[in-house]
Amino acid sequence: MTATPHPSPEPCRICGGRLLTAFEGRLFGDTPVRYGLCEGCRSLLLPEPTWLERAYTTAFSPDPDSGELQRTLFVHRVLRRFRHHGLLPVRFRSLDFGCGKAALVRLLLDQGQDAWGQDAYPRAAYAEERVSAAWPAGLFDLITAIEVLEHTLDPVATLADLRGRLAPAGLLVVTTELFDERVHGPDWVYLAPEHGQHITLFSAAGLRRAAEQAGLAYALTLPWAGKAFVHVFTHPGHALPAWGRWRVRAGHRRRERLARKDAFA
Ligand SMILES: [Zn+2]
Repeated sequence: MTATPHPSPEPCRICGGRLLTAFEGRLFGDTPVRYGLCEGCRSLLLPEPTWLERAYTTAFSPDPDSGELQRTLFVHRVLRRFRHHGLLPVRFRSLDFGCGKAALVRLLLDQGQDAWGQDAYPRAAYAEERVSAAWPAGLFDLITAIEVLEHTLDPVATLADLRGRLAPAGLLVVTTELFDERVHGPDWVYLAPEHGQHITLFSAAGLRRAAEQAGLAYALTLPWAGKAFVHVFTHPGHALPAWGRWRVRAGHRRRERLARKDAFA
């Protein structure tokens, strides 16, 4: 990839590194942008996103996030596996940060969990009574942030805030696709130029670095449809045992194969 400096003076919002020009793109079909590659953590960023108000106030129809339901069901399966392997207690208190329509909150409530949601713009059709823009008080055994971090201007501060609400032995489960400069270019679907909201695209190293800076310990990553997608963090004093991580990974592979078969039955 080119080593031309990025015209924006803004440093990497993950590690403070200098930005290089990665490639150009076009948001909403009419707004040219230049993606920045961090010289330090090799993440991909859109600095100075002056279009965010448009990105969040435009009503896109049809909704470009047509994968939301599949994704929620997938995350719910993953959480069941964590419980099965003892990474989560049988009964737990959870918070879905940036919960959107609150489908995951509803699935967990129906399972008997003490599930809550937080969203700056609540539109929680599935669980209105459990979601607000304010943070519910207390600590959580499980905090999920599903497709949230790639929207953030301050990912380290966001992660640190979540860490502060995580119970001592709790799990922070984040989903975001990872940027790999050897593979991804201007045609990467995850850039989502149609809505302009994906401004912080982590490399694997960038995500770990952000978590470390936020005082979290990286535990494991699980794939979805062949892509590294689910990333789990804990408090540093409560690292997951190696055998537990191995069992979760092996069980996840086997059970996702079964889930795929069911999808085509
Ligand atoms: Zn960086």
